Amino acid sequence: MEKFDIFDTHTHLNADDFAGREAEELALAKEMGVTRHNVVGFDAPTIKRAIELAEKSPEIYATIGWHPTEAGSYNQEIEDMIVANLSHPKVIGLGEIGLDYHWMEDPKDVQMEVFKRQIQLSKDHNLPFIVHTRDALEDTYAVIKEAGVGPRGGII
Ligand SMILES: [Zn+2]
Repeated sequence: MEKFDIFDTHTHLNADDFAGREAEELALAKEMGVTRHNVVGFDAPTIKRAIELAEKSPEIYATIGWHPTEAGSYNQEIEDMIVANLSHPKVIGLGEIGLDYHWMEDPKDVQMEVFKRQIQLSKDHNLPFIVHTRDALEDTYAVIKEAGVGPRGGII
């Protein structure tokens, strides 16, 4: 069989569904050629957990950010927490960030503002960003176009 070395750029091994089963999931992934994982945090508990997993496993990296369905709770304290963790050696990106008009937990303007602020953080810290977009493709494109992309780009 051909040998693969696949980097999964978006996993949620930090979600409650996988609690206590992480090693088993990593072994299964490895069998299929997935040798590195980017675990994406999207709120305070999953950001903490993503970093803990990255610290424990050489094959795991973390990306941290505030999900659009959580946009209404974004504030300076949360931004400070995210910024404080961006310098962690295993944190490789900002996300997942974006717009979610399917669940529409918060108004579009609130989501767009939080999205823009985090794109700015990614640029300030020279990190790529990871976008979550659902039923919001036009506005997602408009925000990214307006905010501009840093030298590290991003993934949608
Ligand atoms: Zn995700």
